Amino acid sequence: MHIQSKLPKVGTTIFTVMSGLATQVGAINLSQGFPNFNPSERLQQLVSEHMARGANQYSPMPGVPLLRERIAEKIERIYGAKIDPDTEVTVTAGGTQAIFCAIAAFVRPGDEVILLEPCYDSYRPSVETVGGVPVIHALSAPDYRVDWAAVGRLITPRTRMLCINTPQNPTGTILRESDMMAINNMLRGTEVILMSDEVYEHLIYDGEQHASALLYPELYARTLAIYSFGKTYHNTGWKTGYCVAPPDLTREFRKVHQFNVFSANHPMQAAFADFMVDPAEYLGLPAFYQKKRDFFLEAMSGTRFRPLPCKGTYFQLFDYSAISEEPDLDFCKRLTTEFGVAAIPVSSFYSDRVPGEKTADRVIRFCFAKTEDLLAQAGRLLERV
Ligand code: GLN
Repeated sequence: MHIQSKLPKVGTTIFTVMSGLATQVGAINLSQGFPNFNPSERLQQLVSEHMARGANQYSPMPGVPLLRERIAEKIERIYGAKIDPDTEVTVTAGGTQAIFCAIAAFVRPGDEVILLEPCYDSYRPSVETVGGVPVIHALSAPDYRVDWAAVGRLITPRTRMLCINTPQNPTGTILRESDMMAINNMLRGTEVILMSDEVYEHLIYDGEQHASALLYPELYARTLAIYSFGKTYHNTGWKTGYCVAPPDLTREFRKVHQFNVFSANHPMQAAFADFMVDPAEYLGLPAFYQKKRDFFLEAMSGTRFRPLPCKGTYFQLFDYSAISEEPDLDFCKRLTTEFGVAAIPVSSFYSDRVPGEKTADRVIRFCFAKTEDLLAQAGRLLERV
């Protein structure tokens, strides 16, 4: 049988490839983004309690009602936006599933979707799976600045969606109020929907404030904003996130969500509803991760890797052009097998840069959501490179 692939250029995601190689050779895994420490004991306890009390069957399709209420309360507290938990919040099986549903609910065959690359590697295949056409605005090291006038010139009558991500994976850059205003002005009068991936909303440093799309009512009217409990509470494997969107967009989002996963993990949702009443953990996240970023930068200061600015996310980019001319995928594989530290080649976040081929930027991504002992050990190993 001849299978006609919908995604002929897609192989196994780089996160699986690099984590697999790290495990195989026993390297320190700073590639895939996940913490090497556990979520709060109390949160784990709450999951067990809710399981014991019977939260083991399907949750309601849009999510546990109490959790959606708590999410709406949190949004009002931190972004000052009034969100209706019944019609504007949908709990999902993690950020990636929410992104897929957001795209699948609105993008029809032939519709154009503007992506700012480098971007998270699921965006493009999600667009292509539903027959959409990715239109790329490429950003470059070291500052990965977005030229909104150039983005505006990419808008055509076929443009259905613009995808943004702030703080941005993999660059660690953030969009500021001026960027959000530029987007708002650019999209005014168009039918373009904004997919605003804000899963790193609390991982923001140096006193910067997260410029959420929820802060701007005119912009919010066309937005699906995506969030992740995994990033906020150190449990990426619990696969729980949510999508916030106005009722008319949420209605369409749920049509796809209900037939994609139906609902998200029930005991986790019940536990998050209890746990997130106290804002202390998420309010402490900027300081918690900024300390790790700074510790990692210090641990790397004796190496020949040059850091790029990191304002958010738990990713730190490094330029390795002082070390090697190798393409970034080859370099990352060699770092893993010869030096014992795994990282992600930034070319994997560009659709026109084939990993393994020479690229203009010699930049790789390390995840610093790790305990200090591991970050220190990685720094020592990388001093030998
Ligand atoms: N978002 C995480 C990262 O960028 C990984 C997600 C995944 O492995 N699918 O590393």
